[in-house]
Amino acid sequence: MRIGRYTERGSGESWCGVRIGETVVSLPGAGAGAGLAIPDDTAELFGGWRWRRKAEMAVEYAEETGTGLHSLDDLERLAPVSNPEKVVCVGLNYRDHAEEGGHPIPDSPALFSKFPTAVTGPGATIEWDPDLTEKVDYEAELVAVIGREARRVSEEEALDYVAGFTIGNDVSARDLQHGDGQWVRGKSLDTFAPIGPEVVTADEVCDPEDLAIWAELNGERLQDSSTSNFIFGIDELVSFCSHAFTLTPGDLLFTGTPPGVGVYREPPVLLGEGDEVTVGVEGLGELTNTCAFDD
Ligand code: ZN
Repeated sequence: MRIGRYTERGSGESWCGVRIGETVVSLPGAGAGAGLAIPDDTAELFGGWRWRRKAEMAVEYAEETGTGLHSLDDLERLAPVSNPEKVVCVGLNYRDHAEEGGHPIPDSPALFSKFPTAVTGPGATIEWDPDLTEKVDYEAELVAVIGREARRVSEEEALDYVAGFTIGNDVSARDLQHGDGQWVRGKSLDTFAPIGPEVVTADEVCDPEDLAIWAELNGERLQDSSTSNFIFGIDELVSFCSHAFTLTPGDLLFTGTPPGVGVYREPPVLLGEGDEVTVGVEGLGELTNTCAFDD
């Protein structure tokens, strides 16, 4: 299933839905018809008992009765997870990226964080004050979305705690990131964590460690790699995190970026007003955002 969050234009209400082609099933809407209480929020959905089965039943009911069906054209897409408790990110995690930068392969994952308030959705504007930062960069990433509370889980069982996968752009203000001595400010500007377009449930992603991943700026491909270059797999990352802190449903795990980010290019490529940046992962679709100054 492809689970996103949507709003009917002008309604002010949002809900989680399953997209099937150009049609979206409202899970709370179809669920209510089928006698199933399904929350509006995806993090809450993933935390619920037997959520996959409930969602499947709501979709079946919608297909049989027409209840809760919407045309994608009538909807605005929102970030598929709106309010993660945590946004955990991994630094160097692609072998080809390490080789490009002449970095040694790390022995253990280097974690950092983005504030959850940085999360925004597909089609949303990435905004910043040009007086605050002049070096804004993109990072295409595969994002694992946690589906069950995970505390001290083994690598063998770690994938059972992943609800699905989405695409993320780890937008980074390089001057703040590198000037501050630590990264949280440069990584956490409002709108600097676009995710989407949907969470593709884990059962539909055969091998998350063998997916093409790319970034394009105004149509030019600048990152082009595969998650087969991961240094640490999703199972290792989830287990590693869970031994330090409890992961909860809706938490986002950004799994690092391949070579080709703007700041390390010759000459450097930086995002500017009016730019369109698209990041994509095989099987998950593409996530496009435009850039604007917020001054
Ligand atoms: Zn990153």
